[in-house]
Amino acid sequence: MTEDCLFCKILAGDVPSDVVYSDEFVIAFKDIYPKAPFHVLIIPRKHIATLNDTGDDDIELTGRLFSAAKAIAAEQGFAEDGYRMMMNCGEGGGQIIFHLHLHLMAGKTFNA
Ligand code: AMP
Ligand code: ZN
Repeated sequence: MTEDCLFCKILAGDVPSDVVYSDEFVIAFKDIYPKAPFHVLIIPRKHIATLNDTGDDDIELTGRLFSAAKAIAAEQGFAEDGYRMMMNCGEGGGQIIFHLHLHLMAGKTFNA
């Protein structure tokens, strides 16, 4: 838990969230301002600020963000139609919450 990190507070249960998936390594919850009919954020339980801050020890953990995305998409019925994943890195990349997260969006057809 890193103080002043919103997503660490969500992990600790101090800030409410709508959790759709949880395992030993990651949790996923609904984005509060969804940009698609289904939009969740998949985050590691370990606080890592950005992709730039991952080390070789985190390779498996970053992979788990994607395996969770695949499992959630299947669970929610989006596997066949397809879905989009996105990760912003740093301010220039549009990151506003500095706790690593993978966006998973589905329920519409995305262009390019
Ligand atoms: P990013 O720009 O990649 O850092 O994305 C951060 C995302 O967190 C945005 O899509 C926000 O809508 C979302 N967000 C911000 N506060 C909350 C919250 N309390 N619960 C769920 N999602 C949030
Ligand atoms: Zn955090």
